[in-house]
Amino acid sequence: MSNLNQVVTFIRDQFNTNEFIPLHEPRFRGNERKYVLETIESTFVSSVGAYVDQFERMMETITETRKATAVVNGTSALQVALQLAGVQQGDEVITQALTFVATANAIVYNGAYPVFLDVDLDTMGLSPKAIADFLDLHGDLREDGCYNRLSGRRIAACVPMHTFGFPVHLDELMNVCEEWQIPVVEDAAESLGSSYHDKHTGAFGRLGVFSFNGNKTVTCGGGGAIVTNDEEFGLKAKHLTTTAKKPHPYEFYHDEVGYNFRMPNLNAALACAQLEQLEQFVERKRTLASDYASFFDGIGIKFRRELPSTKANYWLMCVELENKSVREEFLSFTNANKVMTRPIWQLMFRLPMYQHCFRDDQKNALFLEERIVNVPSSVI
Ligand SMILES: *Cc1c(COP(=O)(O)O)cnc(C)c1O
Repeated sequence: MSNLNQVVTFIRDQFNTNEFIPLHEPRFRGNERKYVLETIESTFVSSVGAYVDQFERMMETITETRKATAVVNGTSALQVALQLAGVQQGDEVITQALTFVATANAIVYNGAYPVFLDVDLDTMGLSPKAIADFLDLHGDLREDGCYNRLSGRRIAACVPMHTFGFPVHLDELMNVCEEWQIPVVEDAAESLGSSYHDKHTGAFGRLGVFSFNGNKTVTCGGGGAIVTNDEEFGLKAKHLTTTAKKPHPYEFYHDEVGYNFRMPNLNAALACAQLEQLEQFVERKRTLASDYASFFDGIGIKFRRELPSTKANYWLMCVELENKSVREEFLSFTNANKVMTRPIWQLMFRLPMYQHCFRDDQKNALFLEERIVNVPSSVI
């Protein structure tokens, strides 16, 4: 492609540097230093502290949910959310093969089996139609839930993932899962700041989870959150992620096998300072996305945009190339010129531990796997 030079030049102009341009790097331009120093000076750096509570209240406000629980990372948030949704040893959980590995791993941590269904071409996230087709063929609604006739296992949950911050078709997905009585747990790790019909992603399912890893839109080094509108789930999430200890001034009594998945106050301080800037970060990313869109339109490359009635945070922005060989050319030219670009994840069933899992035809996932490439997306 002769226009690859133009791509590199355009991206360099946006980020105004001749140095290496990473895919996504954090920005600390607010109260980060101040809040983190405060935790050190107060000695409250660990699992108890005011910033943990403040972070949880901020997440409730941002997502408009009733209860948020701070945890150590997004993967453990997903693990616990699935457990709370009722996933047990030997169950199945529907999800997409086009995702980051943590989505599938969290299912297996609960002793359950992932069932990989296709994504939609327009959202790149779990397809309501693929779920409906699968359940029409193999679903069996019994008194205690939905079963898979093929395997005889219970389908205990469905985990859609909002790829790169683009919301899945949530109305249709919630409808089909409700019809089949399958609880939805949203993997909203990538979609903080993204909404669907003006409602924040992560607030649709019975539980939703977010990640604050270093490469996400907002970071606190490492961290996660579980949100829910069900007060009881909220309390259980906090209990289970804090060693299931019954509150008492000095006695240690734990009423189940809990986890130490607490977010340290040190990290929560960073998270609070970052959340204060979320709106501004998303606005700047959306401006960059709009500039990318005009540029790529002009040189005949398809830049992926949000769908009507959705607002994307544009966490990682991406282009859709014509085929695999054009993709290879794009990847090798940009990376050789110190502009980091990266193909979308390999589908989960290519990984040794997931190759034997059930999957449908994966038509759209296979199409996207060969064509989607992320471009530098940091807040400018
Ligand atoms: C980042 C991410 C996670 C996991 O988050 P960590 O905080 O890194 O554990 C889970 N699912 C998806 C889709 C992600 O992108």
